[in-house]
Amino acid sequence: MFIQPISISPTRVASGNILMSTPFEALGLAAPLLRAVADLGYTHATPVQAQAIPAAMQGADWLVGSQTGSGKTAAFLLPALHRIIEQGPTAIHRVATPRVLVLCPTRELTQQVAAEAIRLVRHVKKLRIGQIVGGVAFGQQIAALKGADLVVATPGRLLDLAQRRQIRLDMVQCLVVDEADRMLDLGFQEDLTAIHEACADRDQTLMFSATFAPRIVQLASRVMRDPQRIELANAQDRHADIEQRLHWTDDANHKKRLLAHYLSASTLEQAVIFASTQIETEALARELANEGHQVA
Ligand code: AMP
Repeated sequence: MFIQPISISPTRVASGNILMSTPFEALGLAAPLLRAVADLGYTHATPVQAQAIPAAMQGADWLVGSQTGSGKTAAFLLPALHRIIEQGPTAIHRVATPRVLVLCPTRELTQQVAAEAIRLVRHVKKLRIGQIVGGVAFGQQIAALKGADLVVATPGRLLDLAQRRQIRLDMVQCLVVDEADRMLDLGFQEDLTAIHEACADRDQTLMFSATFAPRIVQLASRVMRDPQRIELANAQDRHADIEQRLHWTDDANHKKRLLAHYLSASTLEQAVIFASTQIETEALARELANEGHQVA
């Protein structure tokens, strides 16, 4: 659990506007995608979107440095969906034959990315989004995958379905690896290699990672062709006005008391609290609401 007090100062908002200076219309995306982006209230591309979207639309392999909250999801979904829209619908096979495959390290992230993809294709007819996560009955998941053009998946369950011949990866044109650093932390290295080999005919790989640590660069050089990098110049110093503190706690109770202490500070107006899972987040939100906080 990590608590981040936020203060919305006029300078922060102003600098945000300066950074987000590329209007979406300038990126050459298909009209139904622009309509969906406008529905979502996005007017200007975030820095990672402004760089990664045109780069990915040109083709080639890209290794992109990106933090959570940077708008990275739309940065890879928009060019990937644009590719599918440009090609138009294809024949539906007995098993799913996605043209774009997005790999995520966790179930939660997979669901978030699939939900964003569904929002982005709301004005596109006949473009289906599929999702593959563990912990769901096979039959139900397989039925929902039929005809999916873009599939978002966690690696383990995807390979399981591929081995059962319930999905074919040989028609994947674009492979996206989201949060590659977490993927390695969670031990998905071998699964990534197997998936890389199963969609060897693809023409593009996009890899997103919070860091360009040597192990990420090594992974990129194994599964990508001559990858070019996009690194946002100010990715490191953007958070210079945030003070970070680390507290060791004895147990969960101690952690909660510490949280209560910080939340009771009279100077605190708003706070964002990060937890590691959806279940933990929901439980914590309920507890804080019971304690009288206004919680979302
Ligand atoms: P992500 O880094 O992909 O998790 O995105 C963080 C949040 O920013 C999500 O809630 C998105 O809906 C939102 N978002 C993404 N792109 C934009 C944009 N261009 N303008 C405003 N919000 C955005």
